Amino acid sequence: MKISRRDLFKFAGISAAAAAVTGCSTTAFDALPPKSSAGNSAVGSNLGKHQVVIIGGGFGGMTVAKELKKIDSKFDVMIIEKNDSFMSCPFSNCNLGGIDGVSLSSLSHDYSQAIEKNGYGMLTAVVMDIDRKNKVVHTSRGAVGYDILVMAPGIDYNYKEQFPAWDAAKIAKVKRLAPAALVPGGEHIALDRMVKNLEEGDTVVITVPKGKYRCPPAPFERASMIANFMKKEGIKGKVIILNETSEISKGAAFKETWKDLYADVVVHENNCKIVDVDFDKKEITYAQTVYKDEDDTVGVTTTKKLAYGVFNFIPHNMSNSVIEMSGVATTSDSFKKVKMATSAEKPVSFQTATDASVYAVGDVVGHAIPPSGQSAIWSGKECAKEVAGALRGKSYSVASALPYKSANVCYSMVNGNPEEAIMVNHEFMVSGPIIGSKGSVPKGDEAGNKFRSKGLGKATRDWYKGAMRDLFS
Ligand SMILES: Cc1cc2nc3c(=O)[nH]c(=O)nc-3n(C[C@H](O)[C@H](O)[C@H](O)COP(=O)(O)OP(=O)(O)OC[C@H]3O[C@@H](n4cnc5c(N)ncnc54)[C@H](O)[C@@H]3O)c2cc1C
Repeated sequence: MKISRRDLFKFAGISAAAAAVTGCSTTAFDALPPKSSAGNSAVGSNLGKHQVVIIGGGFGGMTVAKELKKIDSKFDVMIIEKNDSFMSCPFSNCNLGGIDGVSLSSLSHDYSQAIEKNGYGMLTAVVMDIDRKNKVVHTSRGAVGYDILVMAPGIDYNYKEQFPAWDAAKIAKVKRLAPAALVPGGEHIALDRMVKNLEEGDTVVITVPKGKYRCPPAPFERASMIANFMKKEGIKGKVIILNETSEISKGAAFKETWKDLYADVVVHENNCKIVDVDFDKKEITYAQTVYKDEDDTVGVTTTKKLAYGVFNFIPHNMSNSVIEMSGVATTSDSFKKVKMATSAEKPVSFQTATDASVYAVGDVVGHAIPPSGQSAIWSGKECAKEVAGALRGKSYSVASALPYKSANVCYSMVNGNPEEAIMVNHEFMVSGPIIGSKGSVPKGDEAGNKFRSKGLGKATRDWYKGAMRDLFS
């Protein structure tokens, strides 16, 4: 899928003038790469070639870039990122929760410090097409050549699959008025404004999609944090979670917290399919199915209407369109995870199954590991070792780092006063041709027999500080 020039500036919210190349020097192509079939005029500009080009300056991409430069400062590494500053999704729910000292600026970082510190380059541009045959990435600023390409573009929303009858105007309206806030950028600012303007008696509705989606505990942490904000500000209202399935990540821990702290505020509803939204009436129509027992596969479905004050509509997720542009093989489910390479020498890998010069990290990988920032950082470090090996003609096997206990530790803040959090801990292991994982949710307060604890509240802050240190210093 290619992005048109008009769309890309509309969606990326950047101007061509804002785009910049920083860091590494560029090597000119021998010949100008062929124009993309998108027919875009910017596509023709030759921006040079780099040993390693990374698409996406998020958790995965920045880690690969930093680790490669740590392994060998002479590696020529360039990130292509559409946003001109970084905004963190992790910790953003603490901002919505009014946690002491946390604001939108706590989530925002400028890329210059990371570029200066680590010595890689960054091109602020939107990737529009990938020509694997000629090893060229076409961007809104021009064409960039590569020896090795790493794709770390994160997720996209899949409104089209969920609502085939909705046209582009309706989808744009939904994004504007009911932001999902699951990707970095302006949606977090919009949701922050909506929550901070909550009025007495308002209902906040949060949807949870079926299928694979980014950070499975995030919608439930968000519900807890908005309830905390209401409590702190003395706003009487409700937070209603419309879950498309009955699964709740860290379920026992969240349920315990809601019962103890937000019994009159947080309501969780199972098996709710969104049918439509009327933005004039601020009303959601949804169909809820109730099953008699585990053997009942049909259930009884009732269509219901729900008025809201704030609607955080999290739709179905899928791999970012960059993956489709690359044409690498993906899984047949609607998320379209990247199929990863496997061989006797390297049973599991961040190399794609399709192209030995193309790697993938972060939420798009076809491994059975949680789609989290922590997983993306771990994957980024492993991927960098593989890429460095390939550049030096040596082989590195990710399997040598497995099994790995506590490869993904993910905290969710659930209370603001005192600050308390819950956690999940994942071990990663080789599982056939892919990396698998096994998670457990320990009790943070063993003496009080509770999942949440002040110690885990402090660990949440420490984790965020550590992750930002990992990316920016
Ligand atoms: C509310 C919330 C809370 C979370 N909390 C946690 C937590 O506590 N712990 C945790 O470990 N994880 C958490 N996560 C998950 C974490 O944010 C993601 O798993 C992580 O960001 C994935 O990294 P990534 O590199 O795959 O994608 P991203 O970090 O999203 O990076 C992708 C980058 O690619 C860029 N990009 C996309 N398309 C293009 C294009 N066409 N051209 C150029 N650039 C492009 C994007 O702008 C973005 O910067 C949370 C997520 C949310 C939404």
